[in-house]
Amino acid sequence: MSTQIYFDHNATTPVDPLVFEAMTPYFKEHFGNAASLNHIFGWTAKAAVEKARKDTADLIGSESREIYFTSGATESNNLVFEGLARAYPEKKHIIISEIEHESILDPARAFEENGYEITRIRVDRSGKVSPSDIKQALRSETLFVSIMMANNEVGTIQPIFTIGEICHEAGIFFHTDAVQATGKIEINVQSMNIDLLSLSGHKFYGPKGVGALFVRRRDPRVILDPLMYGGGQERALRPGTLNVPGIVGLGQACLLAKEAMESESERVRSLATKILEGLKKACPQITLNGHAVDRLGGNLSLTIPGIKNETLMCSLKNIAFSAGSACSTEKAGNSHVLKALGLSQKKINSTIRIGLGRFNTKEEVEYFIDRTVTEIRTHLRAQDVGLFQDPELKKTWRIQEDAYSHF
Ligand code: PMP
Repeated sequence: MSTQIYFDHNATTPVDPLVFEAMTPYFKEHFGNAASLNHIFGWTAKAAVEKARKDTADLIGSESREIYFTSGATESNNLVFEGLARAYPEKKHIIISEIEHESILDPARAFEENGYEITRIRVDRSGKVSPSDIKQALRSETLFVSIMMANNEVGTIQPIFTIGEICHEAGIFFHTDAVQATGKIEINVQSMNIDLLSLSGHKFYGPKGVGALFVRRRDPRVILDPLMYGGGQERALRPGTLNVPGIVGLGQACLLAKEAMESESERVRSLATKILEGLKKACPQITLNGHAVDRLGGNLSLTIPGIKNETLMCSLKNIAFSAGSACSTEKAGNSHVLKALGLSQKKINSTIRIGLGRFNTKEEVEYFIDRTVTEIRTHLRAQDVGLFQDPELKKTWRIQEDAYSHF
């Protein structure tokens, strides 16, 4: 077992060796520009890009020509805001949820400052959006609704089909940020009523800096105006010389995900269950945040009362997990998602996020449980001999010797 253990797959994933292998020739002998259509170097690059486009489309049930390659989901999400706003300037209302990623929340804030009205749909304690809240919020001047498919901190999966159906009945475009869901759960843009979808290579064993935006072509046809002007690549919606090796890597990651999804999601779910059960057996006060059933299998957001997440992370330095999302770790303790779920600041400070992935093993999980239980025990003992100031906490943890006997 490696001495460094990686349990932070929501932040990013390693590139799968098969993805790396597929990409390598496109840095070396097949280095052509996919827009050079007058020689073999260009044709080879173009053919590889089109294969990747088909593999990406197949993963989400779209047509190839509905896929636009981007630099990642931040760009895809921004393109949805700007592209739709420019194409439909009369519509000045946007609906999002309060637990979206920063790449949705921040454009929404910027649009608000520029005269748009933003409705932020609240979530319940499990992190779920209620479709009826969306129905009530829809207006004739609504430009689009954007609700993430699965949350990056607590893993809750949203009722995407129903939300899409409501939007379609009202004739409003529906976008979903599917970054955390791609390659982990079955996605079909047709049956799920999705008009626009963002995904990102580095969250499912592809390279960083490459992603895609699905834009529906019919029923309804979605029109986006470009953010940039240039050489006309990606049907002029996203001009600029294509990142051929990156796109090939994304396509290969989609292929692998399609093949492995079922068995992999079952495997990571059982590893996550092992962690939850192992920690709870020793520390019954631990709670799991997010939805109990509709959740990403490898994702655990755990609140460990009385233990600061930073302390635990410092003590378990060879195990990579996080206190919140990677994008907001600089403001650790400031999780807008956990706040939206109703957690107190104290609980937020005691919450860790574990994201299991393709290459994690049972041995790593057992080692993690062992080390974590020992750390919790050590910290609680230390608090018990003088530092434990909170009588309520003391009562819930029943700080007595026999309370440690099962550690
Ligand atoms: N949306 C979600 C839900 C994410 O988790 C992330 C990455 N943390 C993004 C969007 C941004 O993706 P990218 O890194 O490709 O810009």
